[in-house]
Amino acid sequence: MRPNTMKALEKSKPEEGLWMVQAPVPEIGPEEVLIRVNKTGICGTDIHIWNWDDWAAATVPIPMITGHEFAGEIVEMGRNVTGLEIGQRCSGEGHLITTDSRQSRAGKFHLDPGTRGIGVNEQGAFAQYLKLPAFNVVPLPEDVPDEIGAILDPLGNAVHTALSFDLLGEDVLITGAGPIGIMAAAVARHAGARNVVITDINPDRLQLAEHVVPTIRTVDVSKEDLQDVISELGMKEGFDVGLEMSGSQIALDQMVEALVMGGKIALLGIPPGKSPVDWSRIVFKAITIKGVYGREMFETWYKMIAMLQNGLDVSRVITHHFGVDDFAEGFAAMKSGRSGKVVLDWT
Ligand code: ZN
Repeated sequence: MRPNTMKALEKSKPEEGLWMVQAPVPEIGPEEVLIRVNKTGICGTDIHIWNWDDWAAATVPIPMITGHEFAGEIVEMGRNVTGLEIGQRCSGEGHLITTDSRQSRAGKFHLDPGTRGIGVNEQGAFAQYLKLPAFNVVPLPEDVPDEIGAILDPLGNAVHTALSFDLLGEDVLITGAGPIGIMAAAVARHAGARNVVITDINPDRLQLAEHVVPTIRTVDVSKEDLQDVISELGMKEGFDVGLEMSGSQIALDQMVEALVMGGKIALLGIPPGKSPVDWSRIVFKAITIKGVYGREMFETWYKMIAMLQNGLDVSRVITHHFGVDDFAEGFAAMKSGRSGKVVLDWT
């Protein structure tokens, strides 16, 4: 039976906080499905929206049901939907695309400039029910549980970034040991990198990194010099590939310094505003830089589910579980800067 209303976590007012409200259950169109949400992950984006910082105030219309990291089950399908079924467990891509841009028509949906995000521009997943285009649905195999399904969006960021360059046999430097940096380290390991080094200045995060991926080398760059780590690990000239996850100018400088000639950098971290860059060093070191946004639709999803089925284990990056009525505790854990992923249970 389809209820008329549902619990939803909403930005209801232009001030700090989110509010649990009763909202109408979304009506779906012919190409859409209705998903009963079981578990959701809290993202840094949701923290920006909670805090109502300048970015959020300029971007997010009110009222807005937040959230974009989810796993659930299909409970209704539009009349034109094929290839899915009621009861199918799923996660999904939260970027809703248009199909008339140059890149979309080239099949590069993740580069569509008309992309709209659920939980940011469109009603989101922090609710008992979510409406989603069938195109965006990613079915979950039996061996991928809901709590991992709920973090496939950020894992997808990690996978997209890490697989930007060939990692087999390479030495990889990751700057920023937040959950996505840590998951990227797990992916780099899984993809056959030789040395995987992750840096941060937050000891709690580095400890979590070691807990999730015991075979990596963590470096607190406020206490240790990367050049010493390079010699300790027996690398002759430096790292081959850098994955920048922190948005910190200092971290990017350290990365450029620690890379080999002809090294490659994938940038996922977002620097706050404009930051000065020493381009001459990047030119003289012949470094390739790639900006990474979202996940490739749907190659990243395919690869990440295949890797999860083939032994990639990121489960320990989830450090907190809360029932959704305790959402405020979940957000507090995130804001402490000491948590990994925080998962909310909607069932
Ligand atoms: Zn996210």
